[in-house]
Amino acid sequence: MNAPRGSVCVVGAGIVGCATAYALARDGWQVTLVDAAAQPGQGASLANGAQLSYSYVEPLATPAALRALPGWLLKADSPLRWRPRPDVDHLRWLAAFVRACRASQVRDTTAALLVLSFLSRDTLHAWLAEQPGAAARSGHGRPGKLVLYRDAAARAGVQRQLDAQAALGCRQRVVDRDECVAIEAALAADRGAIAFGVWTDSEEVVDAARLAQALAQASGARLRLGEKALGFEQRDGRLHALRLQDDVIAAAHFVVATGAGAATLLRPLGLHLPIEPIKGYSITVPVVDATAAPRVSVTDTARKLVYARLGDRLRVAGFAELVGADRRIAPARIEALCDAVRQTFPGACDLREPAAWAGLRPATPDGRPRVGATRFPNLWINAGQGALGLTLAAGSAALLARLMARAEPGIDPRPYAPDAEACPSSARAPQATAA
Ligand SMILES: Cc1cc2nc3c(=O)[nH]c(=O)nc-3n(C[C@H](O)[C@H](O)[C@H](O)COP(=O)(O)OP(=O)(O)OC[C@H]3O[C@@H](n4cnc5c(N)ncnc54)[C@H](O)[C@@H]3O)c2cc1C
Repeated sequence: MNAPRGSVCVVGAGIVGCATAYALARDGWQVTLVDAAAQPGQGASLANGAQLSYSYVEPLATPAALRALPGWLLKADSPLRWRPRPDVDHLRWLAAFVRACRASQVRDTTAALLVLSFLSRDTLHAWLAEQPGAAARSGHGRPGKLVLYRDAAARAGVQRQLDAQAALGCRQRVVDRDECVAIEAALAADRGAIAFGVWTDSEEVVDAARLAQALAQASGARLRLGEKALGFEQRDGRLHALRLQDDVIAAAHFVVATGAGAATLLRPLGLHLPIEPIKGYSITVPVVDATAAPRVSVTDTARKLVYARLGDRLRVAGFAELVGADRRIAPARIEALCDAVRQTFPGACDLREPAAWAGLRPATPDGRPRVGATRFPNLWINAGQGALGLTLAAGSAALLARLMARAEPGIDPRPYAPDAEACPSSARAPQATAA
């Protein structure tokens, strides 16, 4: 840990907030970590797909997604669902999403997210080397990731994407059906339905909630759990305290890392963050036949599902529903996840009582997180990691810690700078944040 700095209050103890607390404490800040839940890692981080997908960062908004959208929205069992709301922020978000589907923007965003994800990988490796107990407790491992395609016609486009990513530092290769089964023997039963795959041996898994808890504990932060943040007290253009139900927390700096709740907390300050909740589901089930369950992480692109082996459990996650902050669990989604396991890995798991879960991905329209300064000199944002919050948490936290220390950020922070409505104009200039 570095020489003491000032006090900082991090609001939100999901994987992003806990990583932020760890990065700041490591840098010498006295950290207080606040969350409405009784334990860290109970929001979107609780039972997510567990993938550290460092090479799979393409945003949801792409020209292909835009073309496929009408078909997805009309199909009753589609992996995507949208319930329109007559709400200005929602409609603005949708318009920005459509604009973000331009091919040139997708290329820029993918390149920016790869830079952040590689920083994340290196940062997390360094932290886990410092905290070997955290690595063991959170089930961190490097099984590699196999992405399955069921339509041979997709191969040329996939190869083009891999070639573009290779130039940015990714090591991935297209593999045929037989090699898919050679890499993951548990796919033998589903072999006939596989067209080809993409194998990335560097991809990792970790239980996000356990990692969040381990980082919160290792940070030595003062934990204020079960305390909902109601707003901020401000004077002379600076924030002075965070308001809770029966208390206030004064600090020199504040970080908002409340995931899908960030926009709501910031709105009374006149800051508008374009973050919409995108609901996803998971089941976690016991493995009963270790040879029939996957060892490597598997993504099924046709069903838009990921499978991650977490010791003697299998986690299956997916779906994207733009339905507001509604965390109710739709039984049909859980049944669809169970059916996918039955068909892809028959006999692998006990599916009688799946641990069912739904969480809200904090999604920006363009898929870039918002990390950095606001127009309040002591208020910072680290939110909006969307479908990649676990993958990007350590890198986003490391970047924010460098910005708050006025240190050389190491990577260009501009692609992740909070939007014009939230940040000072100087924070968007190249040298200002690096000063
Ligand atoms: C089904 C699904 C699968 C996913 N799979 C993956 C994956 O495989 N890999 C990956 O990288 N990402 C994945 N994600 C995305 C990832 O889970 C999220 O991006 C990540 O969890 C976001 O972390 P967070 O800390 O920003 O938000 P959260 O984990 O939601 O944490 C925010 C915290 O803020 C607290 N909070 C909110 N408002 C307040 C308030 N006013 N006062 C106090 N506390 C407050 C909440 O209680 C919560 O604990 C998945 C998401 C889903 C839903």
